[in-house]
Amino acid sequence: MENDVLVQELSSKSTNKAVKVAVAQGDGIGPEIMSAALNILKSAGANIEPEFIELGEQVYLLGNTSGINNESWDIINRNKLILKAPITTPQGKGYKSLNVTLRKSLGLYANVRPVSAFHPFVKTNFPNMDVVIIRENEEDLYAGIEHQQTQDVVQCLKLITRPGCERIIRYAFEYAKAYGRKKVTCMVKDNIMKRTDGLFHEVFNDISLEYPNIKSDSQIIDIGSAKLAANPENYDVIVTSNLYGDIISDIAAEIAGSVGMAGSANIGANVAMFEAIHGSAPDIAGKNIANPSGLINAAVLMLAHLGQLEIADKIKNALLATIEDGYHTPDIYQEGTSKKKVSTQEFAKEVISRL
Ligand code: NAD
Repeated sequence: MENDVLVQELSSKSTNKAVKVAVAQGDGIGPEIMSAALNILKSAGANIEPEFIELGEQVYLLGNTSGINNESWDIINRNKLILKAPITTPQGKGYKSLNVTLRKSLGLYANVRPVSAFHPFVKTNFPNMDVVIIRENEEDLYAGIEHQQTQDVVQCLKLITRPGCERIIRYAFEYAKAYGRKKVTCMVKDNIMKRTDGLFHEVFNDISLEYPNIKSDSQIIDIGSAKLAANPENYDVIVTSNLYGDIISDIAAEIAGSVGMAGSANIGANVAMFEAIHGSAPDIAGKNIANPSGLINAAVLMLAHLGQLEIADKIKNALLATIEDGYHTPDIYQEGTSKKKVSTQEFAKEVISRL
């Protein structure tokens, strides 16, 4: 059976009319990296029209515990496309994670996180690393079912459904087929969570039979992530549940060079959202030193999703050329390899000059 969303995603949707995109500038380093990404998109001639929305801290601070107002919802529902910088989730009770709210309310069931090395320009021990992590995005411990049993006992329910497993696992195999990938690895912990993770594994085994030309294997998540950290070049596509996917994609991005480099797509039946995989990095916010590559890569995924493949390639190539030419933000700067340590905005200028 085909995955309608993926087929739709891969078909060209480009028209002459600019595509309206809801753009959230985010918190912490968000506005700095978004400004860099938007300048690059504009200079490259991307056929998009940003419509800015308010999300995150500025909305939480007004007392709205969801972190998003009705006007932003209207823009998102109208445009069905979001480019989002990272937001800060306030600590403590009473605040809901806006990221989880967006993914669940908009039915963004597949979180696609491609991670590859930029060897020899960005230091990594794994020059041939090129892995795509496909993370289930709505269920698991992120389903938002938490109870206070007594003052000293709290409970969080892990929710896994057969339709949820089927959708994400089929998405992973369809992705592998569409992008010429050779193997899909399932990672869960069904030796302990026999029912929840057991269901994910069982569905994986069933669906893998529908794809005889794609290799498949399964690993227990703890040893799987250890092997991923030690030999990431052995992996191609990994499909996993929500929490495990969140953790292993940060590990993968970091060992590829920097957590600041990876972009991601959140795909649903009607809406898609593109963002960097990292957070709002409050420790470096306002210093103009954040690496905007993760968000730029997310923007490239968005353009590919829209069928603006030529512009997507142009930006991707300019980004690679900038990194190859040694213009590096501090997180990837290496004495001897790098040519110049640049700020966020200088990095964007270097990318633009290579378009
Ligand atoms: P983080 O990803 O923000 O930062 C982790 C480390 O990586 C920090 O040292 C930071 O300086 C560095 N880093 C991250 N992005 C970088 C970049 N582009 N360039 C250079 N260095 C970079 O993780 P955290 O500190 O755990 O979280 C901070 C906040 O972000 C929290 O409020 C968290 O809830 C939020 N968060 C948001 C999202 C999202 O909006 N999608 C995702 C993850 C975390």
